[in-house]
Amino acid sequence: MEATYFGKLAFDWNPEIFKYFKIDAPIIAVTATNGKTMTNNAISYVLEKAGKKVLCNKEGNNMETGILSTLLKNCTLSGKIKSDFLVFEVDEGYIPVVFKYLKLDTLVVLNFFRDQLDRNGEVESLILKINDFLKTYKNNLVLNSDDPNVSRLAQANPDNKNIYYFSVEKYKYATKNMSEAGEGKFCPFCKTKLEYEYYQYSHVGKFVCPNCHFGDNKIYKIAKNVDLENRTFTVDDISYKTQFNSIYNIYNFTAVISVCSLYNIDISIIKDSLSTFVLNNGRLEHLVIKNTPTIINLAKNPTGSNVSLRILNEDKDEKELLFVLNDNLADGHDVSWIWDINFDNLNNVSRIITSGNRAYDIAIRIKTSGFDFNKIEPYLNLQEAVNALYKNNTKKYIIANYTALQPTRNEILKLK
Ligand SMILES: [Zn+2]
Repeated sequence: MEATYFGKLAFDWNPEIFKYFKIDAPIIAVTATNGKTMTNNAISYVLEKAGKKVLCNKEGNNMETGILSTLLKNCTLSGKIKSDFLVFEVDEGYIPVVFKYLKLDTLVVLNFFRDQLDRNGEVESLILKINDFLKTYKNNLVLNSDDPNVSRLAQANPDNKNIYYFSVEKYKYATKNMSEAGEGKFCPFCKTKLEYEYYQYSHVGKFVCPNCHFGDNKIYKIAKNVDLENRTFTVDDISYKTQFNSIYNIYNFTAVISVCSLYNIDISIIKDSLSTFVLNNGRLEHLVIKNTPTIINLAKNPTGSNVSLRILNEDKDEKELLFVLNDNLADGHDVSWIWDINFDNLNNVSRIITSGNRAYDIAIRIKTSGFDFNKIEPYLNLQEAVNALYKNNTKKYIIANYTALQPTRNEILKLK
């Protein structure tokens, strides 16, 4: 009887399948355009360090079927999940589907940017979908106060008293004007132009609506004294160290601290865990290849690419860049989003190599930004590109889009 029941679970991809699981542990979900995998893994890592048993989709299978298979692999024959916490990254579009039957205890929303496939308001429809889901949701909602696309979700259900905003204080490279393509420049409630005190990156920054005061939030956790050179910041006067040197990860980690604080995890455990947390999957991964420091990062949309270039530009050392761009199904066949990447004023970049099946498109894009064409080398063949990259010991930055990331990482690891 139970075997057929399990079989039904396994083979019937009906959304109602979620209601057959017996879960009495809190479920934490992370959603965003960028940073889901990093934040999800960091929350899970801290909870495990605190001695909790955690079920997590660490590999990033974040759609309905991916979450379902994580649950199926870890449940008993009667559908019972034995865990202290369930921590899932969930694709933005699948929140209402997955959590129609699973009881969500905490939802973390990091950011919403235009993604690679989206040129015409897809972001807005995703936000509205989540907003609809939140109209009846009353549990913890952890929101990035500095992204207007996210912050607005607090108003979906006026009866929800469990809203927790996180924020990051102005950092060294924040700008007065927006330097990268972004969303959310108008108040979603009264359509007035938002006033920004500063931008951290893209449209993320300190904003307020001068008409209805949208954006004037009471903050639960704020990261201060951000020092990317030393990779440190403080929250509630506690000093944290991380392995990552990007403003974008300071936001992710402030979300992690917020969530873990809500579950009363010991601050010293959070602090120790974050200081050792790394992700060895090409997401801002630091490697040494042929005695050459190398930083590889995934970038599947303009904001992801701009964040990588921001890290590159904040580094004063001479460096070379490899950009690998594919246009496979999972990447989106339309690569016009590369025109929203900010390649202006690259700091001390002596050579750029491009590869992937759209190596020439990205080479032309970079040339158009004013970078010396004689210093751009396109290679359709990835192995040739990697060999050309490592013909000297200059520091390397590698940016690769979705289907390009693991092949590129594998290719450079062959040289290790
Ligand atoms: Zn307003």
